[in-house]
Amino acid sequence: MQKHGTEVTAKWYRFSDYTILEDAWSPKAPPEMADHYRFIRPSPNARLEVYRPTVVPAGDVLPGDKASDPIVAVNLEALQELDLEDENAILAWCRKFGLLGILPHTTISIRLAPRWLKGPGVDPPGHLLFPTQMQYFRTNTGWKAIEVSKLVGKEECRIEVDEEYPYDDWYDRIVEPGDTSLRSGAVVTPLFSDHYEEMELERAIGRYFPSIPPETRAAAKYPMPGSTDFWYQYGESVAQFRHAVRGFKNAVEQLKNIGSLSDAPADALRSLSQGHAQFQSLLSASPDIFVEPDGSFSPQWGFSSLLAMFALSIWQYLIGGKSIRHCKQARCRKIFVNKQHNQDYCSKKCRRTDEKARQRRQIAEARRLYHQGIPIEEIAELLETGLQQISKWVERTVEGQWRIR
Ligand SMILES: [Zn+2]
Repeated sequence: MQKHGTEVTAKWYRFSDYTILEDAWSPKAPPEMADHYRFIRPSPNARLEVYRPTVVPAGDVLPGDKASDPIVAVNLEALQELDLEDENAILAWCRKFGLLGILPHTTISIRLAPRWLKGPGVDPPGHLLFPTQMQYFRTNTGWKAIEVSKLVGKEECRIEVDEEYPYDDWYDRIVEPGDTSLRSGAVVTPLFSDHYEEMELERAIGRYFPSIPPETRAAAKYPMPGSTDFWYQYGESVAQFRHAVRGFKNAVEQLKNIGSLSDAPADALRSLSQGHAQFQSLLSASPDIFVEPDGSFSPQWGFSSLLAMFALSIWQYLIGGKSIRHCKQARCRKIFVNKQHNQDYCSKKCRRTDEKARQRRQIAEARRLYHQGIPIEEIAELLETGLQQISKWVERTVEGQWRIR
């Protein structure tokens, strides 16, 4: 494969098929809240695949390795082309890219509810059970799980298994808060923010697991983010998905080029600074390394989420000297990355639309002037248009109709 300086490959997960399922446990939600309880989930029997998205700026088309291994390019255009109002389009998009990874992106650490377990270093069949907690931490190259036992401390209890406390009754049972100093919870940073907060598990994590009954979400055995089990149970609600994509595009939009900062109006500066902070919260790429089958190393990157990959593609544009702009076409106004200097439109289509509109205005003006009896030579001069063109515009058929409409 041809190597490009800007190419970054990473690893992400997707299912062969997705569907939208109601959260069966939620009370009937009011219609305007319904999309918070409708989750994008793998279809029954869908296959989990690990794929290697390529984070490339828009327009830089990369040749594929082979026809059976198509490049999945992560860039602004892939988000722009997604119609968020069309749920079938969202599902098709997820089949290509997978879910956005909102939980792995916004969560820093997770501490599950402590359970009565044997604890580290105690040889089975140990007759003692200790409060033991599974903790997950996000690292630069992925998630790590650590099991922590509290053996000492004045709040710590232990259970000696005997006839009164049968092993089968107590093993893996949740420890009451009064019997341990270990606390469950998660440290999260909401999307597009730079705040960190400690949150209860059901609120931080539980809402991404629609198949877990709400009353057990505080103490559920959540799988480690990024694990196979995780992907089978994880879901993003339609509302979360839309919020994340819209927020991403909004953050990028605020990074649009405003020229020299010293000449920029205060509101433009405010918007840029806000976009900058939001964008930074999305950047989380770490260099990683991939060992090729022949023993050589190739560069790979670790990301906390698919959102972070999209952010890196924008980062590449910006450091490459390109800028974010609004399409000049009034009905489009889409954000795009300018590939050429002085590019005002997102597409040829938008440029043609405006050219046609400009021409229609000119024709109308030429006819108005002509109607006032102004000679066509003068009209041509006023409108800075060729004489031949003007005479075509003002020419009428024998029935008195305009020839050109
Ligand atoms: Zn446009």
